[in-house]
Order: sequence, then structure tokens, then C-alpha cells
Amino acid sequence: MHQQSQPHSIAKSSPRTWQDLARCVTTHVNPDTFFELAPEAKKICARCPVKTNCLDTALEHSEVFGVWGGMTVAERNRLKLERRLKFTNAGAS
Ligand code: SF4
Repeated sequence: MHQQSQPHSIAKSSPRTWQDLARCVTTHVNPDTFFELAPEAKKICARCPVKTNCLDTALEHSEVFGVWGGMTVAERNRLKLERRLKFTNAGAS
């Protein structure tokens, strides 16, 4: 588990950021949900107004644990690979 990097923890130390609008913060959901119950976490993320910010941050920091932006680490890795391939293919043409 890597609670330090979860949006809920970030919001406490950095007020007035996108994290303040995070649904996992505003609904006071148990942070463990994002590490132990992916289907539940994804339901919460699906209605989060800052889902894109969250996903971008997770990708930028290569988060290897938990659901961020509605995606598991496997889904984020797949997305990164797809983006890399798209970028490579765009450069080849
Ligand atoms: S997308 Fe999910 S993990 Fe990210 S801030 Fe929103 S509710 Fe929290």
C-alpha cells in the first residue's frame, strides 16, 4: 500500500488544488478502497470531477499501486504503452 501518494493525503498538505475537488476526498471514502477494492474504487472515480488530473498525475509519477483516475496499474501501463506506440507510429509516418 502506498497511502502517501493518494489524492486524499495530497489534499491535506496542498489546499486549493485539484485534489480538493477529488471525490475520494469530498466523500471521505476509506483510502484502502483504492488499493484493495478496485471495482468499488472505479465506481467512485467514474463520478470524480478531477479524474483526468488524477490519471495524468499517476501516469506522470508512474504510480505502481492502487486505482488512480479510474484505472488500475495494469490499465495505466496499457495506456502508457498505447500512447508510446501511437507516438512512435506518428513519428514513423
Ligand atoms: S479519480 Fe478517483 S482516485 Fe482520482 S481523485 Fe478522483 S476519486 Fe480520487
